[in-house]
Amino acid sequence: MTDTSSHLMQAYARQPVAFVRGSGASLWDADGVEYLDAMAGVAVTSLGHAHPDIAAAIAEQAGLLLHTSNLFRIDWQERLGERLCALAGMERAFFCNSGAEANEAALKLARLHARRARVAQPQVLVMDNGFHGRTLATLAATGNPAAQRGFEPLMPGFVRVPYDDIGAVRRAAAEAPDIVAVLVETVQGEGGVRAAGAAYLRELRALCDRHGWLLMADEVQTGMGRTGAWFGYRHAGVVPDVVTLAKGLGNGFPIGACLARGPAAALFSPGGHGSTFGGNPLACRVGCAVIDVMAREQLPQRAAVLGRRLLAALRAALHGHPDVLAIRGQGLMIGIELDHPCAGLVGRALEQQRLLITVTRGNTLRLLPPLICSEAQIDDIAARVARLLDIDQT
Ligand SMILES: *Cc1c(COP(=O)(O)O)cnc(C)c1O
Repeated sequence: MTDTSSHLMQAYARQPVAFVRGSGASLWDADGVEYLDAMAGVAVTSLGHAHPDIAAAIAEQAGLLLHTSNLFRIDWQERLGERLCALAGMERAFFCNSGAEANEAALKLARLHARRARVAQPQVLVMDNGFHGRTLATLAATGNPAAQRGFEPLMPGFVRVPYDDIGAVRRAAAEAPDIVAVLVETVQGEGGVRAAGAAYLRELRALCDRHGWLLMADEVQTGMGRTGAWFGYRHAGVVPDVVTLAKGLGNGFPIGACLARGPAAALFSPGGHGSTFGGNPLACRVGCAVIDVMAREQLPQRAAVLGRRLLAALRAALHGHPDVLAIRGQGLMIGIELDHPCAGLVGRALEQQRLLITVTRGNTLRLLPPLICSEAQIDDIAARVARLLDIDQT
């Protein structure tokens, strides 16, 4: 393929491959070479590529109505709100177009919550190595100095503590009286595939109740079945006050959602927040179609089963590998932490194994396969990763 990228801003380090077609967990380039997708567009295409139900929903809605604006009632938006709230234990939804926007809505809810509690300089508690997006507010919430570099001054109003450390939250509560909310991932995806303990999340819930903080779960990556439950917090048996979603919700069609329950669900009033495209009929119909397929095929449960299978296969294949520090994960969100920087593995996986993977935190190979993978495809992913790391070793 000739390189015609000179008119694109250089925000990404791209692989020299372009795909022209996909089906399920397979992708093909223009030369007809087939690749196995173990990253699902970064936890987006959970139903696989070119899913017929999603394609049909898009095609039919495109022939009916794409956009009317939020100045009118939107039937598909109401339906998707109802379905997501029922699944998530929430009461009301606000729709937008991305994960960062969903978190912006959550952070604005935290500000309104603070106003109501008469806290003038509100702080949101966030975590080391957390990732919440690239807009200026979500970038400030993100615990990655490399992502923040060059964009200072960062938006104030965040207190950062180590992840999965309840003692650190207690100390922050004592030292920073103006905390009004906690924004937390149940599994840190960009932060190296680290799951918070169930006990930690339960204690976090209790601290939020005691102090009147909103518990805001960033489920942009973990939500919609990825971890083996519809939402990551379900593993811990807690219910947050605010939940943000995006990635898997549209299977590649852009959509984000901020869900809330209790007083947090009533904080926005007309004119208080908005999005031109957010919640349009097409995006919301796609979201409903994604839920239909996930529920019908029990994909959250399937992600749990396949995740256990993939973890076991990787542990067996990489047992005793000198470079592997840890193999961990929840559902189909799996990380293999190596003892050295391994960003180069992404290109080698493509070239040598025809396998799509990501590397996170510089040293962790991350697998996010579509939830519709067959057992054979899961075993194939493990085999290709094992070959990749064996070749890498020599
Ligand atoms: C990807 C991600 C985001 C940002 O989503 P965008 O759609 O890229 O804005 C936010 N939070 C988490 C946990 C994510 O993984």
